[in-house]
Amino acid sequence: MSWARQIHIKSPAELQIMREAGRINASVLAAVKERIKPGVSTADLNAAAEEVLKKHGCVSPFKGYGHPPFPTSITASINRELVHGIPSKARKLKAGDIISIDCGTVLEGLVADSAFTAGVGEISPEARELLDVTQGALNAAIQMMCVGNRTGDVSAAIQNYVESRGYYVTREYTGHGVGRQMHEGPQVPNYGNPGSGMPLKAGMTIAIEPMVLVGTAETRVLPDQWTVVSADGSLTAHFEHSVAVTEGEPLILTVP
Ligand code: MG
Ligand code: MG
Repeated sequence: MSWARQIHIKSPAELQIMREAGRINASVLAAVKERIKPGVSTADLNAAAEEVLKKHGCVSPFKGYGHPPFPTSITASINRELVHGIPSKARKLKAGDIISIDCGTVLEGLVADSAFTAGVGEISPEARELLDVTQGALNAAIQMMCVGNRTGDVSAAIQNYVESRGYYVTREYTGHGVGRQMHEGPQVPNYGNPGSGMPLKAGMTIAIEPMVLVGTAETRVLPDQWTVVSADGSLTAHFEHSVAVTEGEPLILTVP
């Protein structure tokens, strides 16, 4: 993925548009979540997302992104697939799978970006715990999105939450500033030291995205040049919200 590393402080008007983009993105993800059932293909899930995006006159920044151009509006990553799975008609969900869906929404040139992982039917207690830990790490990181903290405090919150529970964070894929582009500065890794990195300022908007693995931090990319999998084939999960730093509480943009 290419990066525009400049940090853009958003105006109140831009934040309002991003909040609306985030609301639409939440409705896209909700529509996808509703369709997650055994036998459904990941292409069906992408179609569900595109239907909602179209209704709002919006597009996902994922479609056509990068090299080779990403072909769909969502990414759909199953079990060992950590991120960037490509939806297809051939790939059908099975009971017991866990699937991560990532989607972005562009509204009036501003981007919101969010992801969740969910079970397909009944899932194992091990898979349930992985989802809970990854979601918990996101919540812990969001609490750190305050003026006076630094990006390293956000990163450290994720790493500590995950590693203290015996799981691994990826070293290769990171959270990022978001808004005028899908990927802006600052970069916010899933590991780091408290007190390090960029100071957080009101108007900064960051996509925080813990990517958690059961058996190893190592990943590899499949021959499709997009799908990132755990190197040992173990389960993975991913949750993401776009969050604004304000003078008060952190503002989660990608909720209903
Ligand atoms: Mg995302
Ligand atoms: Mg992101």
